[in-house]
Amino acid sequence: MAATDTPATLSVFRTLITGSHILHHHGVSRILDAYGHLSVRHPDKKNMFLMPRNTAPALLSSKVDIVEYRMEDASPVDPNSPQGYVERYIHSEIYKRYPEIQSVIHSHSPAVLPFTITAVDLRPCVHMGGFLGNRVPKFDIAEIYSEEDVRDLLIRNQRLGQRLSACFSQGREESYNPVVLMRGHGFTVAGASIEESVFRAIYTAENARIQTASLNLQLAAGTAPLKHGESLYYLDDTELLAATQMTQWSVMRPWNLWVREVEANGLYNNNA
Ligand SMILES: [Zn+2]
Repeated sequence: MAATDTPATLSVFRTLITGSHILHHHGVSRILDAYGHLSVRHPDKKNMFLMPRNTAPALLSSKVDIVEYRMEDASPVDPNSPQGYVERYIHSEIYKRYPEIQSVIHSHSPAVLPFTITAVDLRPCVHMGGFLGNRVPKFDIAEIYSEEDVRDLLIRNQRLGQRLSACFSQGREESYNPVVLMRGHGFTVAGASIEESVFRAIYTAENARIQTASLNLQLAAGTAPLKHGESLYYLDDTELLAATQMTQWSVMRPWNLWVREVEANGLYNNNA
C-alpha cells in the first residue's frame, strides 16, 4: 500500500481484515467460508473502495492483502495488484448507487440459501432481525442473462451488478434495503460501517435459521395459523422500527466481543 496512507485508511485496513475473520469465525452460520467477501468505501479517496485480494477471508493477514478499486468499473488502481474476486461488481455498483452505504458483504450462507430458492420470504421474526424490514427482496439473475453471460449465477460484470444494486431500493422510498437475496447463490448485505454490515450479515443468517426452525416446528405441530393467517409471529411495523433503532445503537457490543474472539484464535493473524 502507498506510503501516503492516512491513519483513517490504516485503521480501515485492520478493521476490514478483522471483519473478514469474524465472518469466517461464525462457522455456525458459515457467513464466509472459503468464498464470500467484505469491502469498504475508501475513507480518503472519493470513488474508490477497498476489498481483499482473491483468497479465503480467514487467511487475510496484512495490508498487502487489500486492493484499491475504482468504483466506476471495479478495476484495480494498481494494474499489478493481486488477483481480485470476480464478483467485485456487486460492491462497485452498490457504492456507486448509494452514497450512504459504506460497507458491503456478499455471502453464500447455507442458512439463508433456502429462502432464495423457495417462495418463502425471509422476514424478521426476532428483534435482532428487525433491520431486515418487512420482506427481503429476491434477485433472480436468470431474468437478466444476456447471450454473452456465463450462466454460473455469479455477478461477473457491471450490468449484472447494476441490476442487483437496484434491488436495494426495491419497495423503498427512503433509505435502502439492507439485504438482498440472490437465487441459488446467497445474499448481499450493506451497512453504514464495516461493523454494521458484519452485524447485519450475522443476524441475517441467525434470523434465517430461527425462521426455518420455527416453520418446521409449526408444520410438525400442525397447529392453526396464528393471527392474520400467518404461520409465525413476525415483527409488526412498529416493532420493526423500534428493533432497528435498538440494534443501531448496540452494534458495538457484539462487535467488541467478536474482535476478541478472533484475536484469541490462532487461525487468524492481523498485522495491518
Ligand atoms: Zn457469490
